[in-house]
Formats: sequence, C-alpha cells, structure tokens
Amino acid sequence: MKQREIVIVGAGPAGSTAAIALSQQGHDVLLIDRQMFPRDKPCGDGIPMGVTEILYDLGLKEQFDQADFYPIDRVCLVSPAGHVYESRMKTGKQGGKAHVIPRLQFDALLQEQAVQAGAEFFQARVTEPIVENGQVHGVKVHGADGLLDIRARLVLAADGATSVISRALQPQRPPDVHRAVALRAYMEELEVLPHQVEFILHQEILPGYAWIFPMDANKANIGLGMRLDKFRQQHFSLEQLLEKFLALPFMKERIRGDGRLHDVATWQLNFGSQKRLQRAFDGALLLGDAGWLIDPLTGGGIENGMLSALLAAQTAHQALQQGDFSRQMLHGYERACQAALWPVMRRSYLIQRWLLQYPWLMDGLIKYAHNHPHLTDVFLAKL
Ligand SMILES: Cc1cc2nc3c(=O)[nH]c(=O)nc-3n(C[C@H](O)[C@H](O)[C@H](O)COP(=O)(O)OP(=O)(O)OC[C@H]3O[C@@H](n4cnc5c(N)ncnc54)[C@H](O)[C@@H]3O)c2cc1C
Repeated sequence: MKQREIVIVGAGPAGSTAAIALSQQGHDVLLIDRQMFPRDKPCGDGIPMGVTEILYDLGLKEQFDQADFYPIDRVCLVSPAGHVYESRMKTGKQGGKAHVIPRLQFDALLQEQAVQAGAEFFQARVTEPIVENGQVHGVKVHGADGLLDIRARLVLAADGATSVISRALQPQRPPDVHRAVALRAYMEELEVLPHQVEFILHQEILPGYAWIFPMDANKANIGLGMRLDKFRQQHFSLEQLLEKFLALPFMKERIRGDGRLHDVATWQLNFGSQKRLQRAFDGALLLGDAGWLIDPLTGGGIENGMLSALLAAQTAHQALQQGDFSRQMLHGYERACQAALWPVMRRSYLIQRWLLQYPWLMDGLIKYAHNHPHLTDVFLAKL
C-alpha cells in the first residue's frame, strides 16, 4: 500500500468526525476499523445537543434530521432518598436537540458520511504503531490478507478506551480513580418517561449512577456505571448491581413484562480528569476515548470525542501544509484540547470527587436545586 497522508485508527464518533473534516478539506484519509459497520458499542446512547450542532456545522443537517431519531426534551435527577429534580433540555443555536440513538445506527451514519466525504474505509485490526527513531510513521495491521504495514505522514488514534496506539506511546496507565466501568442493557416493556432521560443517584454505586434513557414509548437503554477504584472496593459484579437496582420497589413497579434484559454489555471509560496528559507525539495524535476525554461526572464522551476530532483535524491540516509532523508542531492540538475541555472537565471532576460520594449531600442538593436550577446545570451541561 502506498504511503497515505493521514491514517485514522477507529471509526467511532471521534475517528469518523476527523475523517469527515479532513476529507472535506481534500486530504487523503484512510479510516481503519477492526469491525464492519453497522456495529454496536456499549453506551447509554445519549447523544447530547452539542453533537447535533457539530453535525449541523459539518453540513450534515439533512442527513441527520432525515434519520428521524428519538429526541429528548427533559431530564431528571433522582437523589439516593428519592428526591427528584426535573428540567427542560436546552436547544442549540441552530435548533439542535439531544437524542437517544442506538450507537449501532449513530456510528454507522457517521462512518457512512466519512466515506461519502471521500475517506477510504479499510476493515483491519491495527496491532501497533510503526515507530522509527521515536517518530510514528504509520501502523501495522492484521487484515483479511494477513499482516500489512501502512505508512502515513500522520496517524490519528481514535481506537477507543483500549487503544493500542495510546498504550504503545504511553505505556504507563493512569490510576483507577481516573477510570470507570459501566454496563449497558436494553429493556422492552418498561414504563418510561417519554422524551425524558433519567439519572438515578443510587446509593450503592456512588459516585456513579444508574440511567434510564427511553428509545420509544416502552423501550429503554438502561445501565449503570461506577468509578473503577470504588468498583474494586465492593463485592458485586455490574450485572449483580443492576439486578439489585431493578429490584428496588420504584423500579419493580415500572417493569411491565418479564423484565428481561437484552444486549447486556460492559465496557470501560477513560476520564479526562488528569490535567496534564500527553495527547500529541511525533507523528501521532490521540483523540476521543483513546485520548482520555470522557467527562468524569456524566460519563459522556461522544461530544468531547467529536470536539477533539475537529481540533485534531485543524492541527493535522496545518501540519500537512507545513510538512512538519513533530510533537512541537502537533502540540497545538494538546493546547487546544486543554483550552476547550479542561475547564468543564475540572469542574466535573471536583463535583464527582468531593460531592457525589455523599448520599446525604446529594439528597440535600437535589432538594435545593428545585429553587436553584443553575446547580443542576453543572451536571447537565454536557447532556
Ligand atoms: C456503558 C457506557 C455508557 C456510555 N454512555 C454514554 C452516553 O450515553 N453518552 C455519551 O456521550 N457517552 C457515553 N459513553 C462514552 C462513549 O461511549 C465514548 O466516549 C465514545 O464511544 C468515544 O468515542 P470514540 O470514537 O473515541 O471511541 P469508540 O466509540 O470506542 O470507537 C473506537 C473504534 O475503534 C475501533 N478499534 C478499536 N481498537 C481497534 C484496533 N486495534 N484496530 C482497528 N480498530 C479498532 C473500534 O472497533 C471502534 O469502532 C458511555 C460509555 C460506556 C462504556
């Protein structure tokens, strides 16, 4: 295979967004994913309003609106003792709304748009970056025709929370306090609040939460997530914790059928709660979950992943124009990510670390929030 301008590893929201932005600028982009699309990704399927606005900015309004996804208008927070706070969701500057969209559909739409914009898609598993004299020069892949070296001027790693590129370039793993685990399932015949997402601060999983995100009149994405250090300190699996949650009286009375869950899946989350994390290397950038960009309070990572992709695309464009792929040149991406995302990330981390673990405090705050909506806006800022 000839040398490519840009190789993007991973066609999730971060990788496909970068592929769309760079292809629209006329660059040569090879987008590699180990899976064919459509493919599932364990997720709450909560797509924030900001994502809709990014898609509109990329010129994809017609394609997105035509898909007629399930819109979300309201959100509610439930405290450990059952106090409830409800609020309307904000609409974006261009009228964009939040949605619940199965990742099977959402990611396929993005990947398809990347190909439409001119990116070439290649199904193969990337095994490691090609590193020569400390500079990344491409990736080694395992595809249908066996092992292959693909050389590129720049590699964008968007291969998610288990990124092989991130692990190779940055072998030291951050402590468990900056990571989480979560379980996602789907349930039919569940009484949902139409067009309203629910976050339940269930005492047993603080500083995490359980969620019920409706997908239609009686089907929901349901799940829970916990910070990894706290998860390791207790004795239940995520499946057992969800079972216990579903057995709570207020949940039991909402289950209409046999309460069977399907497509149960767990995955890990890499929080963006470390101030200084290297995301630019000689010849490579880390995007989305591969770059540890999940909000440490909400667990949301799709919008941050797509924002990082747009910033990476800007830096990649400049690097290609100047023919300079050094870390010094690419450091602009790190600075831009820091400026755009760290203020919210820091605030989220402080709330998660110091407030969310005390049930009595959450009860008090949610009661108080009835009269002071700006408090919950902090939690809801990225939904
Ligand atoms: C249970 C759960 C619930 C969540 N709920 C929400 C939510 O409701 N809203 C929200 O905003 N965020 C949520 N998140 C976080 C969100 O899922 C991620 O932040 C988001 O998927 C990150 O996108 P990404 O493109 O960086 O990576 P991913 O979506 O993980 O995409 C990575 C891609 O890389 C490919 N890949 C991986 N390794 C290789 C390899 N070696 N070679 C080739 N390809 C490879 C994968 O096949 C995949 O397609 C949740 C996470 C979990 C675990």
